[in-house]
Amino acid sequence: MPNRKRSENEKVILAKISEAGAMTKYDLADQMNISIPTVTTNVNKLLKEGVLKEVGVQDVDYGRKPILLDIDYNRYFSIGIDIQNHSIYYCLMNLKLELVLEKTIENKDNDLETRIKEIVNTILEECKLQKENIIGIGLSYPGLVEEEKLLIKKGPNISIGNLSLEALRDELEVNIYVGNEARLAAFAENRIGVSKEYKNSFYLSIKEGIGAGIIVDKRYYTGSSEAAGEIGHMVIQKGGKACNCGNQGCVEPYLSTRALIKSFSNVLEDKFNSLDEVFKSYNPDIPKQKEILREYVDYLVVTLNNVFLIFDPDCVIIGGQMSEFQEQVEPFMEEALANNICSMLKSDRRIEFSSLGYKASKYGAALMAFQEITAIV
Ligand SMILES: [Zn+2]
Repeated sequence: MPNRKRSENEKVILAKISEAGAMTKYDLADQMNISIPTVTTNVNKLLKEGVLKEVGVQDVDYGRKPILLDIDYNRYFSIGIDIQNHSIYYCLMNLKLELVLEKTIENKDNDLETRIKEIVNTILEECKLQKENIIGIGLSYPGLVEEEKLLIKKGPNISIGNLSLEALRDELEVNIYVGNEARLAAFAENRIGVSKEYKNSFYLSIKEGIGAGIIVDKRYYTGSSEAAGEIGHMVIQKGGKACNCGNQGCVEPYLSTRALIKSFSNVLEDKFNSLDEVFKSYNPDIPKQKEILREYVDYLVVTLNNVFLIFDPDCVIIGGQMSEFQEQVEPFMEEALANNICSMLKSDRRIEFSSLGYKASKYGAALMAFQEITAIV
């Protein structure tokens, strides 16, 4: 396993240059409050590795012109992979956090290790890269994970589970990271998406299941047993609809995409298979249809009310597939907020729709894989 772990100083040097653009050793020593020899030692290591490069000299009035250092943003890449029951979405990101490649493949035979090896081979071939250019692989999983042990546990909405990826990491000789999908989506929104400006945010993932990612002080919060954010099983209606977990009245049977598809299928006596199909035929001028969505948004707002009361975040993000239907959902929000939001809450609470949409989890996975090399993300 290549040991790419680097010193904190190296990470900060890369972070500073990433933020401000090309800099000299003197700028770095000044900003980091460390000596010139210490900067030189670290810079020389990074130059040798090829992640830093000399890009000219700084114009000064007198004396020798100092050399400007910049990052070679295409020295390293990370792979972000979002595993869903039927499909696997993946992307390749460079150190500038630009997307170099994005693809979707079928999730065949529940053989995740084989699929990951195929993804790595496709990327190396199509992008003409060597394995040593891949700094890491991040995996987003729709269920519980143990990040340290690289363990994905059984998820309610996926057939792959109880798998450790340590053997695959050793075989590929590339670092692997695993994370929960809602948590990684929250992380991506916080780094490159809609909650970039905020320190504390809450991401509500509305897909076949309901999940949440909690960002506190720009870091995601996992909880004591890495189960924080299982908000889908918070009860919002005592004795209400039956949930997969065995309880009644949980958030999930009211807010999941499956629940909304079912409501529309029942009322319209038509079988819808996806949210796309539902919204393609949705007509807000037909009272029966409007009523379904109005009731849906009521339950959504009841859930958001609880979130605001518990976490007091700077903003709550509506994410997952539901974020793609902002136009249809938003007209009901104002009335629902007026009826359901606690008067103790501050009035400038923010509710945003995800800007990265369904891609947020794989971007979060790719961003997570950069953590060992730089403080950039
Ligand atoms: Zn439940």
